[in-house]
Amino acid sequence: MEKKNIFSKIICREISADILYQDDLITAFRDINPKAPTHILIVTNTLIPTNNDVTENDETTLGRFFIVAAKIARKENIDKTGYRLIVNCNHHGGQEIYHFHMHLLGGKPLGPIII
Ligand code: AMP
Repeated sequence: MEKKNIFSKIICREISADILYQDDLITAFRDINPKAPTHILIVTNTLIPTNNDVTENDETTLGRFFIVAAKIARKENIDKTGYRLIVNCNHHGGQEIYHFHMHLLGGKPLGPIII
């Protein structure tokens, strides 16, 4: 059987995390090593390793990422000041966990994207 990655373990509550939202398609929880005052990860409930593995079948799931990101941003009170949504893909994109996820970062000015 395939070994579960850390996000899969969080989704099925095998390991703990500060889960803010969960439905049939996605789960959102606080990043354990926040890079901004608000740093939340939104992840797919089923394993999609990277953005390269996304297909037409995932349209509803990926649409929901943005809807839930906007809802969480409002709840965290960062919607007016603004925030950044990031998806890292593979090694050059800085992806560490190979389970599709979006970072929601805010709570301070993040400045331009610096490479
Ligand atoms: P990425 O580099 O895009 O793959 O991002 C992976 C993110 O997962 C990093 O920001 C980590 O801090 C975060 N992370 C790793 N393990 C955990 C965990 N157990 N709970 C919450 N966030 C985690």
